[in-house]
Amino acid sequence: MNIVVLVKQVPNTHDVRIDPKTGNLIREGVESIINPEDRHALEAALGIKDRLGAEITALTMGPPQAIEVICEAVATGADRGILLSDKAFAGADTWATSTALGLAIKRIGEFDIILAGRQAIDGDTAQIGPQVAEFLGIPQLTYVRDLEVLEGKITAERVLEDGCERIEAPFPVLLTVLAALNEPRHPTVAGMLRSASERAPIEVWNAADIGAKALDVGFLGSLTQVTRTFTPKEARNTRHLEGSPGSVAAQLIQCLQEQGIRLGE
Ligand SMILES: Cc1cc2nc3c(=O)[nH]c(=O)nc-3n(C[C@H](O)[C@H](O)[C@H](O)COP(=O)(O)OP(=O)(O)OC[C@H]3O[C@@H](n4cnc5c(N)ncnc54)[C@H](O)[C@@H]3O)c2cc1C
Repeated sequence: MNIVVLVKQVPNTHDVRIDPKTGNLIREGVESIINPEDRHALEAALGIKDRLGAEITALTMGPPQAIEVICEAVATGADRGILLSDKAFAGADTWATSTALGLAIKRIGEFDIILAGRQAIDGDTAQIGPQVAEFLGIPQLTYVRDLEVLEGKITAERVLEDGCERIEAPFPVLLTVLAALNEPRHPTVAGMLRSASERAPIEVWNAADIGAKALDVGFLGSLTQVTRTFTPKEARNTRHLEGSPGSVAAQLIQCLQEQGIRLGE
C-alpha cells in the first residue's frame, strides 16, 4: 500500500501577527514546526504501516527550510520525503498550492491513501485537502476522527456539526484528519540519524520536475490575490446598566434599538 502524507511547515503559534506596515506575517522569533494536525496524519499512516505494511511518502511545498518538516517525518518513520521548492511556487494561493501538490503526487505515481491535516494553524483555510482530492479526481473524507483500513477500502468516522457519520470509500482516497484521531509518536534517534545522513531518502523537486507550467503554479497560477491584510482594531464600547431587573431590561431594549437592532414585534 502506498500512502502520501501532506505536511506543512508553520510558525509555532496560534497568535499569528501581521506587520501593520507591510501586511506580512511576522516570522522573526517564531519557531517553525510541522502543522500540528499533520503529525496526526503521519501517525495515521504509520499506524496503517504497522498493521498492514505500507510505503509512506511525506510531501511538502515550501521554501528551502521546509526540508525540516520532511526530515522530521522521515525521522518519525516515513520511508521517503519530498520537498517541492522553487521560486516559481512563490506567492501561491491555496489553488496554486493544491495544483503543485497534485502534480507532485501524480509524479510520485501509484497511491492508495493521501492523508492531510484538516487545517493549517497559519493559513487556516482547510482548503488544501479537498482541492488536492478534486485535482486528482478521487473521493475525499474530511474531518476524520477514526478510521479503519480493510481490503481495498477505508471506513472513516467524520465529525459533523451536530453529530458524526461513518463513511466507506474505495482506494485511492484522500482524508483530512483531526487531532482526536490518535496520539502522534515522536521521532526516534535512529530515525534522526537516518534523516540526517547523506543517504537520507529525501528529494527536492522543482517546478520542472513535476511538469508544472509557469501559469499553473505560484503567483501566476493563483486565482485569488490578497489586496490587504490587517489585524482588526478591537473597539469596545462598554456601558453598565444598573437598577432593578425590569429597569435593566428596559434600558437594554432601548440600547439595542439605538443601535438599530429591531426586536421582534
Ligand atoms: C493570494 C494568496 C497569496 C499567498 N501568497 C503566499 C506567499 O507568497 N507565501 C506563502 O508562504 N504563502 C502564501 N499564501 C498562503 C498559502 O497559499 C497557503 O499557506 C497554502 O495554500 C496552504 O493553505 P492553508 O495554510 O490554509 O492550509 P490548509 O488548507 O488549512 O491546510 C490543510 C492541510 O493541507 C496540507 N497542506 C497545506 N499546505 C501545505 C503545503 N504547503 N505543503 C504540504 N501540505 C500542505 C496539510 O496537511 C494541512 O494540514 C498565499 C495565500 C493566498 C490566498
